[in-house]
Amino acid sequence: MRSVRLEEVTEVVARLYWEAARSPDPGLEAALKAGREREESEAGRAVLDDLIENLRLAGESGSPPCQDTGTAVVFLELGQDLTVEGGDLREAVDEGVRRAVREGSLRSSTVADPLRRENTGDNAPAVLHLEIVPGDRLQVSVAAKGAGSENMSALKMLTPAAGAEEIAEFAAGTVEKAGASACPPVVVGIGIGGNFEIAPLLAKKALLRPLGERNPDPFYAALEEKVIERVDRTGVGPGGLGGRFTCLDCRILAAPCHIASLPVAVNLDCCLPRHQTALL
Ligand code: SF4
Repeated sequence: MRSVRLEEVTEVVARLYWEAARSPDPGLEAALKAGREREESEAGRAVLDDLIENLRLAGESGSPPCQDTGTAVVFLELGQDLTVEGGDLREAVDEGVRRAVREGSLRSSTVADPLRRENTGDNAPAVLHLEIVPGDRLQVSVAAKGAGSENMSALKMLTPAAGAEEIAEFAAGTVEKAGASACPPVVVGIGIGGNFEIAPLLAKKALLRPLGERNPDPFYAALEEKVIERVDRTGVGPGGLGGRFTCLDCRILAAPCHIASLPVAVNLDCCLPRHQTALL
């Protein structure tokens, strides 16, 4: 049986959160430049120029490209033949988040209670998802998820008869309603199936896939293309100022569901998709 120490988990969470906060998806710059090539709106092109310049300046200075360094969303895939030694796994993850915030001067954006709104001061606790998988490795993924796009996400319980067209309409309607608030061009994560709680989790997890990587299942790859085309047709455009380029990418994850259900969740990511993954 392999084992890892809790301190290794803390270190990797701290490193991944800090790297995610300051280094958006590696394909982002190329995607923004390609979008600028086909953007017809003058205001849209100006927004894309600003986004590209912002990325350059952040890269040069080593600073996060946005002041909202997000909620730390941590996905752990824990191999069933691996033990984590030395105490409390949740605390190890939270300590990694605290360390990244402290040492990287990331913004404190988490309140301890949703109504009393007292800031925890260190972004702990993380939003933590743990899955037990075969094997003896621990995969750690951290997303720095800004509130602008998160707030505009949506869940709908469709009827089982709904098809690709209805799902694409729901996704496009969600982006249209979000307008400038989600900081477009957006990445559209879609979770299809499962149930009321699984579909949003799938949508969030779908956002971890690198930009430009199509679904390995041709059926869902085609649906991703359809969603991109439909979202671009909303005319929301870069920064919500109108234009053709609204969708940076779409990723879909699907799961089995009840014969009488078709839950669909849309989790939006903004023009700064930020996530990192490592294996222990
Ligand atoms: S949605 Fe994204 S770009 Fe907009 S403020 Fe939040 S992190 Fe920054």
